[in-house]
Amino acid sequence: MKIEFRKISSVDTLFETGYENLSFKGNFRREGKFVNVDARINGDVILTCDRCGCDIEKVLDEAVQIKVIEGYYDGEDLDIIESHESYIDFDQIAQSEVEAIKSEYHYCKECKQMQGE
Ligand SMILES: [Zn+2]
Repeated sequence: MKIEFRKISSVDTLFETGYENLSFKGNFRREGKFVNVDARINGDVILTCDRCGCDIEKVLDEAVQIKVIEGYYDGEDLDIIESHESYIDFDQIAQSEVEAIKSEYHYCKECKQMQGE
């Protein structure tokens, strides 16, 4: 799902897309040079235990608050995403947010219990 920057107004606009079994929905609006995206990711995801490698089924429900800028950003805010196209690609944002969650460390119940000993 792609929205052109020039069509984004300062009024909240709803969007809904997804990645794998997850939904990514919320709203976006223009704020000066930036586009504010205020959304949630939720649904089922399979994570991998970083200790034993088994699958962990998890229900995600995470708030995602980011800003997208058209072109380069030279500030220090890490939550700002640069877009070098004339549009925002919400599918790509959903994918990168989900992959970021997956790349964190996760442990299954058994491994968590072993660590607690
Ligand atoms: Zn494990």
